[in-house]
Order: sequence, then structure tokens, then C-alpha cells
Amino acid sequence: MSVLVINCGSTSAKIDIVNPDTGDVVASSKLERLEPGSHASVLTKNLPAILEKLPPGSVTCVGHRVVHGGEQFVRPTVITPDVLKSIEELSSLAPLHNPANAAGISAALELLPDVPHVAVFDTAFHATLSRRSATYAIPTRLAEEHKIRRFGFHGTSHQFVAESAAKCLGEDLRDLRIITCHLGGGCSICAVEYGRSVETSMGMTPLEGLVMGTRSGDIDAGAILHLMRSGEMSIDDVDQLLNKRSGLAGLSGIGNDMRDIEAKAAEGDENCRLAIQVFCHRVRKYIGAYTAVMGGVDAIVFTAGIGENSQTIRHRVAQRMDYLGARLDEDRNRDVALDDKPVAAISAENSRVKILVAKTNESLAIARLTAKTAAEQKPSSQQTIPVAISARHVHLRQETVEALFGDGYELTELKPLSQPGQFAANECVTLIGPKRSIERVRILGPTRSKDQVEIARTDEFFLGLDAPVRASGKVENTPGITLEGTDGRRVVIPQGVICAWRHIHMTPKDAEQFGVENGDIVNVTVGEGGGRTLTFGDVLIRVKSTYKLEMHIDTDEGNAAELSSRDEGELSSTSGQATLTRNR
Ligand code: AMP
Repeated sequence: MSVLVINCGSTSAKIDIVNPDTGDVVASSKLERLEPGSHASVLTKNLPAILEKLPPGSVTCVGHRVVHGGEQFVRPTVITPDVLKSIEELSSLAPLHNPANAAGISAALELLPDVPHVAVFDTAFHATLSRRSATYAIPTRLAEEHKIRRFGFHGTSHQFVAESAAKCLGEDLRDLRIITCHLGGGCSICAVEYGRSVETSMGMTPLEGLVMGTRSGDIDAGAILHLMRSGEMSIDDVDQLLNKRSGLAGLSGIGNDMRDIEAKAAEGDENCRLAIQVFCHRVRKYIGAYTAVMGGVDAIVFTAGIGENSQTIRHRVAQRMDYLGARLDEDRNRDVALDDKPVAAISAENSRVKILVAKTNESLAIARLTAKTAAEQKPSSQQTIPVAISARHVHLRQETVEALFGDGYELTELKPLSQPGQFAANECVTLIGPKRSIERVRILGPTRSKDQVEIARTDEFFLGLDAPVRASGKVENTPGITLEGTDGRRVVIPQGVICAWRHIHMTPKDAEQFGVENGDIVNVTVGEGGGRTLTFGDVLIRVKSTYKLEMHIDTDEGNAAELSSRDEGELSSTSGQATLTRNR
């Protein structure tokens, strides 16, 4: 089985035929210096010759890299006429790329009409950015009208290397906080918190963030206004300046290739030295910021042309990181070779934070996501999933129960919950937030090993808290709260307040029927067959033999969807965010 991967850049088209299981590249071709608008005709001319060399029928699906998926596409998506139309419509957000991507799709659909085509979006992995990290501080109405928000790019690469890193460390991606540094021609950095992108340096366009080959990255918008007001530059001039003439090329004055810049810097060229300093300083600054955002970091990963190859840049970036428990091993950094392995550790043996170098492989990542998405296209099970709206509630440790209700106190059952063995207790607590309190919040039993308070967004604002979306049990780096039991007994829990990640409980048999695994992220359509339908993206699959099939959403989501707790969802399609799958 092979996947044809088509990657149409603004002036290039790369074609790879990849075995998604082994990573073997069966055939490859790069067409460069293309004129705008010529992608379709170039592919129509060149693709048949490549396909003719392969045994007939060996290409089982086609994966297309698409730069911008906007707010609409949050996972790899099988291409239908409507999907193609939407990709074309998103051209306003990526005027150089999406038209080329759409042209490539049209041409390939004509040549290979009988196999599934899948769009893999650069932005999709970042669909989990929180509102606070996706929002620019401009008037909300204007931002909504013009779709001005942070999307993030290089998602396929960040996801791929985060997965590779977790595998190399022998850990589950969902247990790790990783900072991935994609340093190539384009550069971006991403905070991958327990498998989800929560921050990334590129924004509405790929211009924001790190210093890149020819792009400036972060710059005061006031400087641009100043240049334009000076009368020296038009809008197009500024566009050219920031996208094509800045970054390493602008600073060094000798072009954008880091190898040349390093060589000149070693000879004493001041501009090249400054280019390297500014480049590394900004990466370091972002690593510190993203560690703060995640409340810690377990691994820092370098990837792409510069990240994989430049020991100098890695050395400079990773200096003086003892404060966060990251220590580079200089010998390993110098000697690292990724010829026969995808990831290598370059941190010292005693470094708490692992520093890794990982090979990124966009074609293989696209091939894998495409194969998975195409396989999932088979008709999904018609079994419906009951939707339960989960009211705010509290899980407590026995110790906390006793601190709130008295020594030796045991929770008493009010009524059993639908998940076997769980019950709503007669006991309630008052949640005392920094701003206000919420009384009579139900405790669910039995007691657990960690205290956990699950509230909705509206509750967060009411209480004056800032709680992240998390899977149950993942309470590291979450806010604490004061709980009040009977007789005014109070307990301050140092952490544990979360906004529960919407999830589906199911048995292994259900999982098999739906074709999903524990930890998969899926898409759920609710209200199929009558009334309006609504799709919940980013739903976490939780599999256990004792679970009863049920989707849990919070009260805000239930209200927004105008759902009563009797509504039933139908699993419409599984997500391509297979990276979160436990067994991969
Ligand atoms: P990419 O976009 O991932 O292909 O990265 C391309 C960039 O990687 C080039 O512009 C080079 O500046 C950089 N690069 C490749 N090899 C090296 C190396 N050995 N040392 C420093 N930079 C390198």
C-alpha cells in the first residue's frame, strides 16, 4: 500500500509516493520555479509519468498538504466537492498557498478519481489552542469579522516530532509537556501539553514568531506603521520586506542559509554574528515563555534543517537552562547523527528535562494521517451514543473528605451514576474562588487518589479562576481552590480545578465497533435524523471494560447545543489526530 503525497508550495510542487507503515519512499519528484496558477497543468503533465512506473493500483489514497484550514478544518479531512470549495474559500487567509493547494487537489482528483483524497492541514494540530492564546487584543467584533486570530502552522511537523519524542522516551504523549522547535527555512515553536498544542509562535499567518530564513517574525506593528507613514514603502513593499527580505537574510546580508551564516560568523563577520544571536535569543525566549505557559516542561525537541543539523544553534539556544532543569551534553550535541534513527537525546544523563533532536518528515506524516483518515472513511457504526450533560462536580481523596466532614467520615450514596461503581454522594461542598463562591456542588464517589473539581467555563469566570481543559486525572499545573464542607470546615486544594475535556466512555467492544482506541480524538455528530445536527470536535475516547457507552459534555456545551440530556450522538468520523493514540 502506498500513499501519493502532494505538497504544492507557492512556487513548487513536491510529489512523494510513500509507504505509510515503513516510511519507504517509493518515488519522489520536485517541480520548482512554478508560475502562480500553473500547479494544475504542471501536475497533470508530470504525475502520469511517475504513476506509470508503479504497479497499477498501488496508490491506495492521496494526501494533500493544505496550508490553511481556518476554523473549519481541525483534522485531516476526506476531500469532497464541498471540502474543496471551502479550501478555495480559505484563500483569503493564505493567498499564496491555498490556491496552489486547491489546484493540486483538482488535478490529482482528475487523474486518480477512484481513491480517497485527504486534505492534511498545517493549521489543524493547533485547533486545540485555547481562546486566550488564539486571541489578539483588538476589538472582538473586528477580529471576528475579518477572522483575525492566531491559527499556527507547521502543525503536521510539530505533531510528528512530538509523537516521535514520546516514543523515544518510552512515554505516552498524553503524559508529557513538550516544546517542539521547528527551525528550518520557516521557523516556529509549539507547546504540546499532554498531546495538545496549547501555544505556537506563528499566528494568523506564518509571519509571526521566531526569526526565519527570510521572514522577520515578531516585530512591533508600530515599526510597520512608521515605515509606511514615512512614504518610503507601499503595502506590497512592506509585504516583500517582512516576508522575503528580513529574518536571517536581512540581518546577515548574505542570504538565508544558516550554514553560510555560521561560516561567515566564524570568520568574524559582525552581521552574521548578530543574525545568529538574534535568532537564538528569540528561540530561548519562547522556550522560557512556553515553559511558563505549561507550568513546566519534560522535553525540548529540535527539528527541521537547522534544528536537526546545527550543533551551534542548539548549543546557543540550550545555554543557561539549568533553571528549568535542562542541561545539554556538549559531546552528544556535537556527535548526534540521525542517519539510522528518528530521534536522539542530547541532554546530559542527569538532566530532568530531556533535550532531543528529531527528524521531521512531512511526507511520511501526511502519508500516515492520510492512510488513517482514508481507512476511517468506511461507514461508521450506526450505533448511537447517549449524551450526558455533566453538571459541575467534585472528586475527592478520602483524606480531603475527612478534613471536610470529620475524622473517619465516609461518603454516603445518594444515587448511582450511569458509569458502574460511581455514585452521586449525599455530601456537597461549597467552592470558594478568588471572586465568588458556588454552593452545593455535588461530590461524586467513590474517593480517588487525587482531588479534582470539574467545572464549566461559565463557572470559571464566576469563581474568578482560569482552569485548563483537561482529561480527568490530569491535574498537574491546574489552579487550586478552597472547599468548604459542613460546619464551615475548609480545605485548600493546591491544584485540581479543570474544565473537563469532553469525552466518551466505552467498552473495548464498543471501541472495536467504532474503530477507535483509548485516547483517540473523535468527532461526534449529535441529533442525526431529526432537528438540527451539531458536531462536537475534539472528543476524547476513554475505553475501559467497566464503562457504559456515553458521551459527557459540560453544561455550557449542552446549553450552547440546546441539548437535553436525552439527545443521542452518532459517531460521525474519527479524527486524524491519531498521534494521540496510545498504541502508535
Ligand atoms: P528546511 O526548511 O527544514 O529544509 O531547512 C532549511 C534550512 O536548514 C537551510 O536554509 C539551512 O539554513 C539550514 N541547514 C541545513 N543544514 C544545516 C547545517 N548543517 N547547519 C546549519 N544549518 C543548516
